[in-house]
Amino acid sequence: MGAELIVHGCVLPLGEPGHDAVAIRCGRIQAVGPRESVLRLGDESTVLLDLTGKALLPGFFDAHTHFLQTGLELTYYVNLAAARSLSDALDMLAEAAHKRPGQWVVGRGWDESRWRERRYLERQDLDRAIPRQPGCAVRVDGHLVACNTLALAHCSAPDGELVDRERGHLRETPAWELLTSIRLDREVEVEALAEASRHAAGLGITSVAEMGGGTALKAYQATRRRGLLQTRAFVYLPWQSLRSLSELNIERGFGDDKLRLAGLKVFLDGSVGAASAALMEPYAEGEGRGSLLVEGGELAKLWRTAGQEGLQLAVHAIGDRAIETALGAADAAGIVREERHRLEHLELATSEQLDRMAELGLVASMQPNFVANWSGRGGMYESRLGAARDARIDPHAWVIARGIPLAFGSDGMPMGALSGIAAVLAPPHEPQRVGLEDALQAYTSGAALAAFAEGEVGQVAEGFRADLVVLSADPRTAPHEQVRVEMTFLGGRRVFERR
Ligand SMILES: [Zn+2]
Repeated sequence: MGAELIVHGCVLPLGEPGHDAVAIRCGRIQAVGPRESVLRLGDESTVLLDLTGKALLPGFFDAHTHFLQTGLELTYYVNLAAARSLSDALDMLAEAAHKRPGQWVVGRGWDESRWRERRYLERQDLDRAIPRQPGCAVRVDGHLVACNTLALAHCSAPDGELVDRERGHLRETPAWELLTSIRLDREVEVEALAEASRHAAGLGITSVAEMGGGTALKAYQATRRRGLLQTRAFVYLPWQSLRSLSELNIERGFGDDKLRLAGLKVFLDGSVGAASAALMEPYAEGEGRGSLLVEGGELAKLWRTAGQEGLQLAVHAIGDRAIETALGAADAAGIVREERHRLEHLELATSEQLDRMAELGLVASMQPNFVANWSGRGGMYESRLGAARDARIDPHAWVIARGIPLAFGSDGMPMGALSGIAAVLAPPHEPQRVGLEDALQAYTSGAALAAFAEGEVGQVAEGFRADLVVLSADPRTAPHEQVRVEMTFLGGRRVFERR
């Protein structure tokens, strides 16, 4: 039997020179090569698709995202990323409260650093906008939740560093507990995942690592069963699931080609934006140094057990003190390279810490879009950390120079590989700079490696799944504003086409 589909007349920015055609059969890449030789694999039933000089790449793999959240943002949550000011955000929340009487109102994605008021949302603001039902609003980084009085009634944690009832602010664990206590209808989640999947296809994204999948596995399964999951989802569960997984004797890779258990997620600190990342030196705007959410000894124990159980840990470590703790714990646990554990974000990693990371065989999972969001003069990093730390934050170049495997993702802020890549091609600071080929690899084969899916996705090569993205122009030569996603294939099936 011949190829089902042959795409030809394309350039392969990550492929061999002279190769301009790909044959696809049974969802996989049958051959890659020069047009004349690949066309020979076709027969009368083969569909031929001339890409007229466009670029063909492996589908993008977002190595760290919050897929369900992205879907809920598109379908259910009040999207406060669009708010141009604090009062704008309050108007949006008031409108949603009016539309959904009696139901929770959840706003996401606010970022006061973009507002003229330059201050956080507070309880009194939310009480005015949402007077009769519980309502809350999550900051863009997910580490700070502003609540109205009715929402605060659902929080049982005592006042302290993480709970400020006067201002209506919850951070870290109390914040997650509140958010996860909000039960959404299964159908709401399925609709959200289906929408996230459509959205991803439009961005050329064919695989995602879901970093917040703990409560949504049934919704994922339902979405997959109904054929609405057009993205491969590699799910990371909260580390608290380790015990259950070990009792069930389940290890990494459990699942199928669309929905699979990848590993466990551990939060070691918060974020720079919420001033909760654990730092060596205090924040520029105050005395605090942020706090560690898990102690080094506890993390080492967790790491040992996870390794024995065949489970990969993805450890969220943003501040230099959190990264230091992670490296110490990895060392104490005696982790081995083959377990391929990952550090997420690594924003303030020092060059000395990266040397140790390379020795330990850890994988770096970083978000190039953070540079565009917050780095540079007048940006959030500078105001929270001062200019000196802003100048060395998000050091992708140092990671690459040490040969540390690098996976790129978006953290859903927002999703989009092309915009993330554009941010590090011409960044404000040299340590952030990445060449195009390295950036494309981090968003394809690098992310696949980080999820133990190398050899399966992330390359346009024989035997790989036919997950492909067609770009309007060759990103090596065209200005990035002219490079758009034209078509996306998942397992050889077209899941997106620009009209
Ligand atoms: Zn995240």
